[in-house]
Amino acid sequence: IVTARASAEKLKDPDQLIDSVKTFIFDCDGVIWKGDKLIDGVPETLDMLRSKGKRLVFVTNNSTKSRKQYGKKFETLGLDVSEEEIFASSFAAAAYLKSIDFPKDKKVYVVGEDGILKELELAGIQYLGGPVYGEKKIELKPGYMMEHDENVGAVVVGFDQYFNYYKVQYATLCIRENPGCLFIATNRDAVTHLTDAQEWAGGGSMVGAIGGSTQREPLVVGKPSTFMMDYLANKFSISKSQICMVGDRLDTDILFGQNGGCKTLLVLSGVTSLSMLQNPDNLIQPDFYTNKISDFLSIKAA
Ligand code: PLP
Ligand code: CA
Repeated sequence: IVTARASAEKLKDPDQLIDSVKTFIFDCDGVIWKGDKLIDGVPETLDMLRSKGKRLVFVTNNSTKSRKQYGKKFETLGLDVSEEEIFASSFAAAAYLKSIDFPKDKKVYVVGEDGILKELELAGIQYLGGPVYGEKKIELKPGYMMEHDENVGAVVVGFDQYFNYYKVQYATLCIRENPGCLFIATNRDAVTHLTDAQEWAGGGSMVGAIGGSTQREPLVVGKPSTFMMDYLANKFSISKSQICMVGDRLDTDILFGQNGGCKTLLVLSGVTSLSMLQNPDNLIQPDFYTNKISDFLSIKAA
């Protein structure tokens, strides 16, 4: 739901914002790190917020890693963050299936990478597919039919560097032919920054291909859908009005915060520039914006 709001205000009094909430949800890429590089001042900022008793939660739409794998990434970057504080869209897909009591005798067909497989495994959900499955070359001889597993009850689609036509056809058969088969997307980010030299097609490209062949809309579990926000609010018993969502992207992070009824802060350390925020065509306006999260430490109210 996009609602036109008053223009975002430049953050002038971080202490007032900090005092007004109990929980900070941080998006990861563009806020905490950029690719594999830590953004300046992040450790000190997180330490300061923790010393004030704030709960910190980290949410990423990147489904290629599991919570545990992200835990290692935080550690490598020298950040003291536990797995329980990390909510990746890979975890969200498994948590969603658990929340609906996905039948034990059904399987998930995964178009995506290792993170989704690891989370499904931890949730005790059977799966097939993943990053290596679709390498078979299809021999389009007369009479050829691709077989598919009739016990697939859900197709989960996320970013997949090994995406190919085999996978599109397999997912399409499951969704179109297995009665009640779910179509779940971890996220539908249009583009992402796999290298700093250009924008790369994001998870939305894989989701779009399968949406195109099935003519079905996926159920999205990552940002900006409300699934993870509801899950978090429930898990930690937090009121959404006492959360500040901090992100670098308007159509995922800021919308996620607004859909959840949270305060929102856009940082300009990632994909959104001030001119994009202030473009008259942009209807998504956060409550506040600032350059980077370490401004929490350096801006002093006048
Ligand atoms: N999906 C992929 C494949 C990515 O590489 C990224 C960022 O690196 C994202 C999604 C967005 O991640 P985040 O939600 O942490 O900004
Ligand atoms: Ca981001």
